[in-house]
Amino acid sequence: MGNIIDGKGIAAEIRAELKGRAAALRERGIAPCLAVVLAGDDPASLIYVRNKKRACEEIGILSREVTLPGDIEEDALIAEIQALNKDETVDAMLVQLPLPRHIDERRVLAEVAPEKDADGFHVVNAGLLFSGQKSVLPCTPAGCMELLRRAGTAFRGRHAVVVGRSNIVGKPMAMLLLNEHATVTVCHSRTKDLADFARSADILVAAVGRAGLITGDMIKPGAAVIDVGMNRLPDGKVVGDVDFASALPVAGAITPVPGGVGPMTIAMLMQNAIDASEKRHG
Ligand code: NDP
Repeated sequence: MGNIIDGKGIAAEIRAELKGRAAALRERGIAPCLAVVLAGDDPASLIYVRNKKRACEEIGILSREVTLPGDIEEDALIAEIQALNKDETVDAMLVQLPLPRHIDERRVLAEVAPEKDADGFHVVNAGLLFSGQKSVLPCTPAGCMELLRRAGTAFRGRHAVVVGRSNIVGKPMAMLLLNEHATVTVCHSRTKDLADFARSADILVAAVGRAGLITGDMIKPGAAVIDVGMNRLPDGKVVGDVDFASALPVAGAITPVPGGVGPMTIAMLMQNAIDASEKRHG
């Protein structure tokens, strides 16, 4: 029976560490500040923004909410971001996605100053990660790496299989594993024989968005399994991409959903904000 990796508990430990770092900044007269830009009133986005605000409050980070109408013009949104780039009281910012349909997400994200990019989505940060240099890391893959580290996973020379190749999860996850000297395979919707690849993984990361895609018979005995997926079933229950019941007896360690990767994503966002504040103030 595999160990369940307690993402909720680990995220709480990280938030406690960050609380200490925020207090140290405040003692120096610095108020760490994260700006959250929200355009429109997408219900899921409103919940995410509220959760981020709560996490800021707990840690001692000022959260500056910039709430904009859903029909805002692209140039006006960009002007808001440019103002936050210049604002000396703002250490880090994020633009809540998805943006309204008429807005070019890539153009907007490119306007965020890379050093204030709390989500690590700017192409400069993606490029730094790609070339193995220090960068602001995207929160979800950074959280997955932290969970693997704290579960005592060895990376060097191990086979890591990442299922999913999005810019915010799959691709950066593959880069982080590669930078730790794992041998990395990236699978996606056109991959043939996903089960064969999955079965050869010492470290298996599922970031797809399909409930129960990975079953116990697709897991190598003893593998570390990280389930990024968040899928809402018709009965309202949220499950991952891994069929937990069949995977648990086979995996060496596995993250649950909920209570695995999810809480780590927010903890890593908070870490990026504190890192940015410490860096800006020397
Ligand atoms: P995307 O939809 O952007 O990417 C999904 C990826 O899965 C794509 O690369 C796609 O391949 C691949 N895929 C789809 N179907 C299959 C299949 N049958 N077999 C293999 N690969 C497949 O999603 P995200 O990366 O944004 O998110 C992935 C999941 O993680 C979602 O459930 C999301 O809700 C969750 N998530 C959770 C977070 C958390 O904090 N816990 C944070 C972010 C995301 P292709 O490229 O070929 O289309």
